[in-house]
Amino acid sequence: MGLPLLDTSRLCIHTITHKPWSLEVALDHFAKNSIAGISVWQSAIEEIGAVQAGELLASYPIDVVSYVRGGFFAHPDPKKRVQAIRDNRIMLEEAAALHAPLLVLVCGAHPAQSLSESRDQIQEGIEALLPDAQKYGIKLGIEPLHPMYADSRSAISTLRQALDMSLTIESPMVGVVIDVYHLWWDDQLAFEIKRCGIENRIFAFHICDWKSPTTDILLDRGLMGEGCIEIKRIRNMVEDAGFLGYIEVEIFSNIYWQMDQEEFLQRIIAAYLQQS
Ligand code: ZN
Repeated sequence: MGLPLLDTSRLCIHTITHKPWSLEVALDHFAKNSIAGISVWQSAIEEIGAVQAGELLASYPIDVVSYVRGGFFAHPDPKKRVQAIRDNRIMLEEAAALHAPLLVLVCGAHPAQSLSESRDQIQEGIEALLPDAQKYGIKLGIEPLHPMYADSRSAISTLRQALDMSLTIESPMVGVVIDVYHLWWDDQLAFEIKRCGIENRIFAFHICDWKSPTTDILLDRGLMGEGCIEIKRIRNMVEDAGFLGYIEVEIFSNIYWQMDQEEFLQRIIAAYLQQS
């Protein structure tokens, strides 16, 4: 009997997870380790630009899963809202150059206005992007964020809010991104994931872990298995709802960014296989 085959055919890693690596270095390491997909953050293409990054990505046997992250539509100043829509249009153009099928949206919030005002502005922003999204054939994924970010990052905190907004917008181009880090606490999660499945709106699935205690609300995400999230249970819910796309590892961590990145990658693969 040989060694069990390591199945990384649904494993995708976000460039931000290996922030110290350039896009090219990340691609080299991912290819060597049979990582099947990559989600590209805007910061990863800043130096070389979207066109060159697109050519580079196309030269590797790795799928581009998404471009991260647009959004930030909410602002009390209408000029800033117009600017945000402009920025998102550029991101759609960049996503097209990268051949990314999905733009992930961190929708935004502003402490100087109510959450419902922010949500109205988010909806307007997404609707304004629809013609470009359709033109390029790029889907828009609303990623609800944990409510601790409701002051300034996302007025959309639950999967229910994200799905309801995508249904209100009434376009099959708009769906949801399920990130276990943001949604694990929600007692309605199983029900809402089912609804998302029925509506065919699950566009992406992100994993990492919630460390306890967590030392930084942004930059202390854990490796799968290291915290309190029932990742496998949530993954089963998402798969039972019909999602069989990539499982995306998205970890922002000051601790892991200081590690040797190849060693970190091996730990990610091991942790991923444990959760599969
Ligand atoms: Zn995410």
